[in-house]
Parts: sequence; structure tokens; C-alpha cells
Amino acid sequence: MPASYIGRFAPSPTGPLHAGSMVAALASWLDARAHGGRWLVRIEDVDVPRCVPGADRVILQQIADCGLLPDEPPLYQSQRSAQYQQALDDLVARGRAYPCACSRRDIEAEQQRLGRVKSRHGELVYPGTCRDGLHGKAPRAWRLRVPASIVPWTDRRLGPQTQDVEADVGDFVLKRADGYFAYQLAVVVDDGAQGITHIVRGEDLADNTARQILLQFALGLPTPAYLHTPLVLGANGEKLSKQNGALALDTRDPLLALKTAAAVLGLQVSGTTVGDCLTAATAQWAALWRATAKIQG
Ligand code: GLU
Repeated sequence: MPASYIGRFAPSPTGPLHAGSMVAALASWLDARAHGGRWLVRIEDVDVPRCVPGADRVILQQIADCGLLPDEPPLYQSQRSAQYQQALDDLVARGRAYPCACSRRDIEAEQQRLGRVKSRHGELVYPGTCRDGLHGKAPRAWRLRVPASIVPWTDRRLGPQTQDVEADVGDFVLKRADGYFAYQLAVVVDDGAQGITHIVRGEDLADNTARQILLQFALGLPTPAYLHTPLVLGANGEKLSKQNGALALDTRDPLLALKTAAAVLGLQVSGTTVGDCLTAATAQWAALWRATAKIQG
């Protein structure tokens, strides 16, 4: 019988956790515990060039310091290329994915020719150049054939959302020109394989959800419930991220780290041990989500 709640925290080991990623880790743990569910950790080391050796161990230690212990040994995406290739082969066989010969420069040139601008995130919308074949060119990447439709989904915190993936993103990459699988494919295959029922992650990832729902449909996988947590902003007003030099979270004082992350989630947690803090936070989290009638499962 499938479990009624399986959640996960899925960090990319590109450096230690910062205060913002701890908020997502804590929220996903609290939501799993408040539902009496299981909580898994997946190390998303699929983008090998961006990974920092040893960062996985640092992250696992940081969450362990804060009492967040997964119910199973962590899954590493770097071990799962065969599963991603199988999913891609399946999509290609059913005409849902196709090879693409375009370089970034080709896409930019085509966008200019069409008089289009970049998407609101500054990304290039793929103009569909290779949709109908490579015309003798060599394949570089593999893309999902995105259907023309608006994708609706509901976030437990942000409410109803929609995205026109075709217009905003276009046919997106599943396997990159450098041979690595794209985050979108890996995350969807793994959430499906691990039976994840509830995804709790930072709001900076909300924008990926519609793409991931399209991929779930294409692969015949169920769509989990989504909750995107508030971001932590740095002094410059920008969200904390490893890319803009956010400091590693210091978990030598785990109570401070936990209370700080809990406060971002609207929880006022007291307690003198990690265990007490987590118990209090779990009770508050459950009450908060029940009160807003948004708790699911
Ligand atoms: N690995 C992604 C990140 O650290 C998160 C993926 C997810 O939670 O869906 O940004």
C-alpha cells in the first residue's frame, strides 16, 4: 500500500546550507512529522560541474546537528543516470521528447529573427527550431515537446497558480548538450520513484512546478501536493543563495539555527534542547496548517 505521506528535502551539494535552505529543510521535516509521514533526503548532484566535493557530507551534518534525520539513507542522483536515460528513452519513443541541435547562440539568433524578447526570468524561450527534425544537424540536447496549454496548480501557501509553459519557457531541456541530465527530468523521475506525495521547498523553485507537472503527466506519474516556503532575504534585499555568496549556516548552535528558521515560517519556538524545539515546532506547524485548512493528506 503506498504511504499516505512521503516528503523529502532535496539539496544540491554546491556548498553548505545557508539560512534560507535551512528553512526549506525544516519546513519539509515539520510537514512530514505533522502528517505522521516519512521524510527522505535526496542529494541532487546531477549537475556535476556545479557540485562541490564533500558538500553532501557537510549538508547532512548540518541537518543532523539540527535534529533532522532522514528515515532512509540519502539517495544520490549521480547514481541514477540509468533511470533518467530510461525515462528519456520512453519519452522519445512516444514522441514526447526530441533531439535538438541548437546552441545558445542559435536560439538567440532565432529569437531575434522572430522579434521576441527573453522570458521574465531572463531565460531564452526555446523557439521550437528542432521540433520537426534536425535537418541533418547533429543532436546536442534533448527537449520535452511542451503541449500548448495553461498548467494550473495549487500551492498550499501561495494558492492557485497557472503557467503557460509553452509561451514562458518553450520546449525545455531534459538532457543537456554536455551529456548531464537536467534538474527537471531528474527531480520528476526521483520524486516518482521515491513515491513522494508532498513537496515542500523554497519559493525560488515555485517557477519550476508547472514544468515538472507537465513531465509527470508525460511520464504517467502522480502530481504531489506542493508548498513553497518563504525566502530569506539578505541585507541587500536579494534572496540568499550560494550564487550570491550567502554564508554557510553555523550549526554549532543548533538551537539558534532552528529558532531562526522556525521564525521565518511564522513559528515562535522555545525550548532548551533540539528535541524540545522540534516537538514544539511540529505542534505549531500542525496547528497553523489545520487552522488555515490547508493541511493535506
Ligand atoms: N536541488 C534543488 C535545489 O537545491 C531543489 C530541488 C527541489 O526541491 O525540487 O535548489
